[in-house]
Amino acid sequence: MSDIIQLLPDHVANQIAAGEVVQRPASVVKELLENAIDAGATSIKLLLKDAGKTLIQVIDDGKGMSSTDARLCFERHATSKIREAKDLFNIHTKGFRGEALASIAAIAHVELKTKQDNEELGTQIKIEGSTVVSQEATATTKGTSIAVKNLFYNIPARRNFLKSDTIETRHIVDEFQRVALAHPNIAFLLHHNNNEVYHLKESNLRQRIVAVFGGKMNERLVPIEEQTDIITITGFVAKPEYAKKKRGEQFFFVNDRFIKSSYLNHAVVNAFEGLLDNASHPSYFLYLDVPPNSIDINIHPTKTEIKFDNEKALYAILRATVKHSLGQYNVAPILDFDRDANLDTPYNYSKNDTPSVPPITVDPNFNPFKTDHNYESVSKISSKTTGSSSSNDFSQKSYQPNYKKEVGNWDALYTEIEDAEPVKQEQLFEAHQESETGKTFQIQKKYLLSSIKSGVVLIHQSLAHQRILYEEFLENITVKEASSQQLLFPVSISFSSSDIEMIYSIKSDLESAGFMFEEFTKESVVIGGIPTSITESQITLILEQLLDDIKMEVPDASFSHFDVMAKSFAKSLAIKTGTTLTIKEQENLVNNLFSCKEPSISPFGKPTFKTLSLQEIDAIFNK
Ligand code: ADP
Ligand code: MG
Repeated sequence: MSDIIQLLPDHVANQIAAGEVVQRPASVVKELLENAIDAGATSIKLLLKDAGKTLIQVIDDGKGMSSTDARLCFERHATSKIREAKDLFNIHTKGFRGEALASIAAIAHVELKTKQDNEELGTQIKIEGSTVVSQEATATTKGTSIAVKNLFYNIPARRNFLKSDTIETRHIVDEFQRVALAHPNIAFLLHHNNNEVYHLKESNLRQRIVAVFGGKMNERLVPIEEQTDIITITGFVAKPEYAKKKRGEQFFFVNDRFIKSSYLNHAVVNAFEGLLDNASHPSYFLYLDVPPNSIDINIHPTKTEIKFDNEKALYAILRATVKHSLGQYNVAPILDFDRDANLDTPYNYSKNDTPSVPPITVDPNFNPFKTDHNYESVSKISSKTTGSSSSNDFSQKSYQPNYKKEVGNWDALYTEIEDAEPVKQEQLFEAHQESETGKTFQIQKKYLLSSIKSGVVLIHQSLAHQRILYEEFLENITVKEASSQQLLFPVSISFSSSDIEMIYSIKSDLESAGFMFEEFTKESVVIGGIPTSITESQITLILEQLLDDIKMEVPDASFSHFDVMAKSFAKSLAIKTGTTLTIKEQENLVNNLFSCKEPSISPFGKPTFKTLSLQEIDAIFNK
């Protein structure tokens, strides 16, 4: 019989290897983020479209690659990180197997741009299904950008196997959080479909945990610290009363690498003995540093499981350390000098250091029509409606004629993946003061048309109101003392027991928003007070909507429950399409919208207005 065995061509071998390394978009995210870290990046951006199914792009400011390396990095077993077998036991980098990029390039359209610091020009390579389509010199900044498009385009079975966008996004966010928590000293940005999901500044560990999981986390953390010959342990556990019904915030990092270990988890849970309800799981963020030669990372293709030489000793040390810290915390408040009181108010979470348009000062005396326009009357009208219960009431941001406003250059961030047309805010604000009664029109009970200096602005009334309410709620919840109104007669509302449990779990967040609870039973909650911005008749609607939103929410994808709450409240309470607005209500809406920090988008990422310049209008008629 003739010989039948042959060596598989490289591209087939790569596809087979890809099956191990790349299970879903999140696997690509993990590998690319880790490569950026290995390259010494101080700032890493992750841009996604459609849960990574359409685009996963990682941009770093690391050391970049030479043009030869840029080509070589897509070869299987091509790595700069180890040279011989014994290096496997002295690993200081995330990667070492040299197969991630080869695997990814076998199953997607990949575009690489990279440049080293000392080079004049960088290299751009396009590769599809392991075939290099083009390679050329290109002008680019120092560092590397890898865009992975149309993952699994050539393996329909794998593509069809992918889960819904919500689930795939959750996997990605999980990976992102793990990497971000392992490296608080690196700045990270995550954008999904042009929305900013995370903007994490370089910080210490506590600040990073709070930035990822929300301001409430700050007070929950008990610091852990222990140093022995075989291991150094640092990090935090959450106080037992904050243990979760579902397993969630449980993180082990070994030498800055996220790992799963049910054995070590057992040690931590064991340390909480007697402090937890039966079915609850403690949250922890534990960083173990061990000599690299005492572990084997190469027992699993995704490197999330590792083998320790002295597992039993580690178990004992970990358990004792956590127990000790918890004990200390129980008898006396922990003195933690790292604790940052500023972290307790998370409102400025959306502020960022991205370039911003210079502040614009409005000249209050400028009036092209020289009519005696009285701004004060606008704010009086606006404040008269305070406390009224009609759903048409707008939030009470009185119009300040000479306010200064800094407008974040939000749009500029997205031009990398989409050429969004930047909104010219200056024009709006200049024109803003020019608006006067009679210059706003409502169209189809849905839009407002307002004349501005440079043309017209078309506003979506419901989306605009959502933005106003969202910012108002967020500010109320996180910055100010929540203002609450006591109900004359407490209201009892029925819910399913799982919903009651959910409300109970976010009770303290709801209290921050102004709710006051008197009693929880198996089927009902008794509410004694509500935020001033809502009315009694809206309570059920608002809570039901909130529960739905929390259930739909990708866990932890959003900054915190506060954000979900503010969005949910804004959605429930915003004026709807089909509502007729008086001229004054229209004016208030326009004024309040442009007093917002981020007037141009609704809390759910939709545009709230569109301007049409005179030139654009002229062009319509000059065809
Ligand atoms: P590994 O990380 O296991 O070495 P990869 O396939 O992930 O394997 O990457 C191959 C090589 O490409 C790396 O060893 C590194 O030299 C280079 N490389 C990959 N990504 C980057 C990056 N973002 N910046 C600089 N070099 C990179
Ligand atoms: Mg790698």
